[in-house]
Amino acid sequence: MQRFIPLSIPNFEGNESKYVNDALSQGWVSTGGAYITELEKKLEEFLKVKKVVACQSGTAALHLALMECGVQPGDLVIVPTLTFIATVNPVMYQFASPIFMDCDNSLCMDVRKLREFCESECDLKEERLFHKDTGKQIKALVVVHVFGNLADMESIMEIAEEFHLKVIEDATEALGSRYISGRYAGKFAGTIGDFGAYSFNGNKIITTGGGGAITAKEEEAAIHMQYISTQAKDDPHYYIHHEIGFNYRMTNLQAALGVAQMEELPEFIRRKNKNYQLYLEQLNDFSFGRLLGFREGTESNRWFYSLELQMEKLRGSLREIISSLQARGIQTRAIWDLIHKQLPYREKITYQIERALYYSSCILNLPCSTQLTKEEIVFVVEQIKTIVGEMADGIKIT
Ligand SMILES: *Cc1c(COP(=O)(O)O)cnc(C)c1O
Repeated sequence: MQRFIPLSIPNFEGNESKYVNDALSQGWVSTGGAYITELEKKLEEFLKVKKVVACQSGTAALHLALMECGVQPGDLVIVPTLTFIATVNPVMYQFASPIFMDCDNSLCMDVRKLREFCESECDLKEERLFHKDTGKQIKALVVVHVFGNLADMESIMEIAEEFHLKVIEDATEALGSRYISGRYAGKFAGTIGDFGAYSFNGNKIITTGGGGAITAKEEEAAIHMQYISTQAKDDPHYYIHHEIGFNYRMTNLQAALGVAQMEELPEFIRRKNKNYQLYLEQLNDFSFGRLLGFREGTESNRWFYSLELQMEKLRGSLREIISSLQARGIQTRAIWDLIHKQLPYREKITYQIERALYYSSCILNLPCSTQLTKEEIVFVVEQIKTIVGEMADGIKIT
């Protein structure tokens, strides 16, 4: 039987079944239970923050943050176009509207364009930023640490301060990535801006099946997000509610899985880093592309590996490369199609999108599960070299 090398699958080598069975046998399966608070405590200790709130998904975490920022119908929120769509959809849940920003060569938000946009397309009036063309207020900025690579937070925080924008870090892909030098040395992704959102979906660096978490610079904001994530209950015994709440709380079953995964997080990060080095070595002599790096002055969780292919040298498409690899038992994936081109977003505001168009046409994401062996990495790179080499020679691939 031919082996199959998946793109990214979860790893349950630790106490996962033990803790999940424990939660089951205690009967605590829903939105109350000790594993939820234990997971939150583990995240608080790991991230060195006061309060983390566990919730149903990264998407829910981002939605809670936007609500807590006071994003309302008619407001504008700056977002990247090169991201997973769940970064942007919660803006629409608030009946607000996105402004799409370009990426730079790190795949994260282009801070030069961000500043240029704030200076030339907006007016600052009484500590509020207004978009000139529409007259609408821009309340927040969502920055994504793409594939675990930290965005340029020093510049972003400077711009946000100057133009009075709240910063929501979409750290859903970056649990464990941190700065090791500069102003934010020692700070983890998600703990620098006003809010930080994490995801524990099946393909992320740790998983709870589905799940997420949110933290905030202001502890009171985190406490309030916990309140609205649990139906805004104002009395533990009687049904009294002073606000509109949501059913966004994580369940104890999910959290049991999460506690076990948190125990393994350092080992997962170690393996992601080791496998990245192996890919680098194997791709050293590859003439049609290079593995993208991670920001200097940071230690990344290296969640996903991106191969930038020189498509202009190849007589074939990225799709053909992906399906040839699939036929050889290797699952790879193109980066996301840009959000400003998706049907619900085509009429929205964009600002000078160029690099994102380029990267969305030439990035191939390679298998990156923590179970990956050296032999598998060697095999993956061999197959890529063969397929791409034949394409460069103009040979029809099968
Ligand atoms: C996974 C992901 C999300 C959403 O997380 P879910 O837990 O799946 O809701 C949001 N943004 C980015 C960049 C992601 O990769």
